[in-house]
Order: sequence, then structure tokens, then C-alpha cells
Amino acid sequence: MPQSAEKILDHKDLFKEPEYQAMLEKKRATYENATPAEKVAEVEDWTKSWDYREKNLARSCVTINPAKACQPLGAVFAAAGYDSTMSFVHGSQGCVAYYRSHLARHFKEPSSAVSSSMTEDAAVFGGLNNMIEGLANTYALYSPKMIAVSTTCMAEVIGDDLNSFIIKSKEKESVPADFPVPFAHTPAFVGSHVDGYDNMQKGILSTFWKDAPRTAGEGINIIPGFDGYAVGNIRELKRMLGVMGVEATILSDVSDVYDTPSDGEFRMYAGGTTQDEIKAALNAKATISLQEYCSRKTLAFAEEVGQQTAAFHYPMGVQATDELLMKLSELTGKEIPEQLRLERGRLIDAMADSQAYLHGKTYAIYGDPDFVYAMARFVMETGGEPKHCLATNGGKDWEEKMKALLASSPFGEGCQVWAGKDLWHLRSILATEPADLLIGNSYGKYLERDCNVPLIRLTFPIFDRHHHHRFPTFGYQGALNVLVKLLDTIFDKLDTESDISFDLTR
Ligand code: SF4
Repeated sequence: MPQSAEKILDHKDLFKEPEYQAMLEKKRATYENATPAEKVAEVEDWTKSWDYREKNLARSCVTINPAKACQPLGAVFAAAGYDSTMSFVHGSQGCVAYYRSHLARHFKEPSSAVSSSMTEDAAVFGGLNNMIEGLANTYALYSPKMIAVSTTCMAEVIGDDLNSFIIKSKEKESVPADFPVPFAHTPAFVGSHVDGYDNMQKGILSTFWKDAPRTAGEGINIIPGFDGYAVGNIRELKRMLGVMGVEATILSDVSDVYDTPSDGEFRMYAGGTTQDEIKAALNAKATISLQEYCSRKTLAFAEEVGQQTAAFHYPMGVQATDELLMKLSELTGKEIPEQLRLERGRLIDAMADSQAYLHGKTYAIYGDPDFVYAMARFVMETGGEPKHCLATNGGKDWEEKMKALLASSPFGEGCQVWAGKDLWHLRSILATEPADLLIGNSYGKYLERDCNVPLIRLTFPIFDRHHHHRFPTFGYQGALNVLVKLLDTIFDKLDTESDISFDLTR
């Protein structure tokens, strides 16, 4: 046997052992009816041609490798940021296993969510009984303080009505009548995880704010939005707020639940915004969203209850952080302190120090609409040139905003914006109009290998690198982290490609 308990081989080496090589060869020859290697190479070359690109970009009836996830994933993420809240997804078990595994693989933390476990009978007769039993089990087994209900495709296709199901479940005493069970319909066949996040945020706030008396105060609420770097970013945000002396309520704070310590105690729930904080947040002067596309309905609701609102596109980089801090200063009357001014200056100094290597580098950027906007903006601040900006879950309005941003800088000239396109489109685009660097998530590693463009992992999900999410990308300090990642990749590429310029000092 090639594998032995004395020396465990990683599968990278294991599958190169003769036994595995022989088995794979036999399988290929006997069962796979494989296409000859020359033909495969010929077709692969063609898929990188302009001819194929035109056909690929004209594709309308199928999506291949979308750079987005489905709505309930965003709902589960939003709910996780509230104290002792269990996500209850009304639908099939497999979907919920996907959300849990996606979040666990990214954050390297257990991620709890339950399902109403709908199967064929529920798909035909409706899932009311699953809801009644499921809520009772969840309440009894996991002792949550709140159960946040969202839906999968199946429940939405058959039209299950969450509001009436939850009322009936309470009548059947699945949970006490006054127990909070916010809900959000999250049909996965429209929108994406950013809409699911928005819907669940609105669902949770509505549960506590609707019809409650409001006494307008001076407080500030902040909605961070769906963010793979949330652990580092929310902590950085709190640090900046602390330095400014601003007291704000983070609406959905996942920073502790996705970063629990190893000290012998399993924490199903850790940290998060408490119900007292949610109730008090109704009285806030304003609710600010750090990611507009994650919060459009929630901000509209905040306006309905009488609050001021403001939305940003992921506060990363110099101008984006300036705008956030100035807004906070305007709303609270607090000065932006010297400490933050110094951090800003140090970031600009670092950008200037490395200008010779950053200037003129071209980038392909993909991810969620707010992230792509922020990343393109920061790249231009460094003297880089976005060449392709793609958001599968970006619509016409995002495309227009991107074009206005790109038009605001000479470095944005010639950048193409790809709204609604997927990563298979991006493969054709990169093969025909290459960029120096690719910014995205772990799924970009296939593009990196296929199109020979180095990948910088800066957005969710990151499965194949560890702990990036613990370091912020928000604010001036976060931008410094991002800058170092860009530079490390640029220098690695330079060293790999250099012969006579393999210099000690860069
Ligand atoms: S797209 Fe639909 S079936 Fe797939 S995981 Fe999402 S809810 Fe489930």
C-alpha cells in the first residue's frame, strides 16, 4: 500500500504512487472513452480564441461558475451576527449543508444552521408540519434566544408562507408566543447572497422595530454588509470608532462568532448584537450601510421609521475611508482625530514608496458589486489600471456607477465593466485581453492556472488559504494590508520572471 500510518502522504504525492497511476490509467482506458490528448489541446486552444469569446459572451441560457452564492447563504450570515441566534432554513437539508460548509471552509470555524428538512411529501403538501416540528426541536435542542427563518428554492417554488407558518407554529406551542422568530423570504433563483443578507437584516429589524415607539436620539447604527473579511474588518471598524469616540451599534456583528478561541469550550453562539441593542437602535439618529448593495431594502426601512441613512461601497482605500470618517464626523459632531490622520498619511507614504512597482499594473477584478467598486477605486489610487471589472450579481445600476467611477480617473480609461457575467466569461476575456493581476476569491485559482495571471485572494470565499479574514481590509490600516498583498504578488511575479534582474533590493 502506498499509504502508511508511519508516514501519511498528502494526496498531492499519494496519487503519484505507481498503484494509483496504474489505477487511473486503467480507468481512463477502460471506462472513460477519453478524447485523444491532441484533440483536447486543440479545443482548449480554441476556447481561448476571439471566436470562442464571442460565442461565450453571447451565451444567455446558462451560467457557468457564477461569482455569487444564493440568497439563503447571505441570510444565514446576517443572522449569525445576532446574539444567540440560530438560523432555521425552511427547505431541504442539502442546501443548509452547503451554507454551513461554505462558511466553515472560509472562516475555519464551525457554522451552525438548521433546516426544516423538507423532502418529497413536504414539496407536495407544503412544509407546515416541518416548520412546526423543526421550530420546536430547534428551541429545545439548541436553546437560542432568537430563531431566524429563511427559505430555500423548494419552499419558494411551492409558495410556503413563512408569516402564517410561524403564527401557526406558535399556536401549536413550538416556541413561546413572545419568542422572536424573524423571517425573510430568500428565493434563491433571483438575486444573490447580498440580497439574502439584506432581506434577513430587514426581517430581524422589522421584528423589533415595527410598530414600536421611537424616541429619536443621537446614536448611529452601522450595517457592515456581507463580507468575507468581517472578522478583521468589524474589529477594525470598532477600533476606528473608538479612536473617534463614536458609539455605534453594529447591526449584525459576526466578528466573534466566526473567530472563537480554542480553550476547551465549544461556543455555538459567541458575541453578536444583542436584542436590547437592536431595540435601542430604533432610536438612532442614522443607519449607515458600509455596502449599499447589501442593504437597499434595510436602509429604506430605516428611513421609514424616521432615521437618516447613508450608504458606502466597502470603505477600503484612501478616499473611501475619508468619506466614511467624514460622514461619521458630520453625523456625530466628533472631530476626526490626529491618530487617524497619521494612519492616512502613513498609508499614502507606503503607496508612494512602492509607486514604481504599482504604477501602470493592470487588473481584472471580480466579486460582489460593492467590493469590486472599492477594489477598482483603490487600485486606481495606487496608480494601477483596472482592465476588467466583473460582478455576476451586478446589475445595470452597478454598471453605470462603475463607469462613472472609472471615468473619474485617467487610470480607469479603457476598463471594461462586465455586469451579470460569470467566471467562464472571465476566462475568455482574460485569454483574449490579459491583465497583469487578478483579484477575486479562491475560485479564481482555475483562471490563474489557465490564463497565467497571478491571483490575489481578497474576497469571499477563500477556501485554499488560511486566516486572511482575521486581518482587516477596511480603513487606512486595512488598505495597507491590501497594498502589501498586491505588492507581494507583484514582487513574486517579478522574481519568478527575472533572470538578470533577480535583485536583492526592490
Ligand atoms: S440555489 Fe436553491 S437548491 Fe441550490 S443551495 Fe441555494 S436554495 Fe438550495
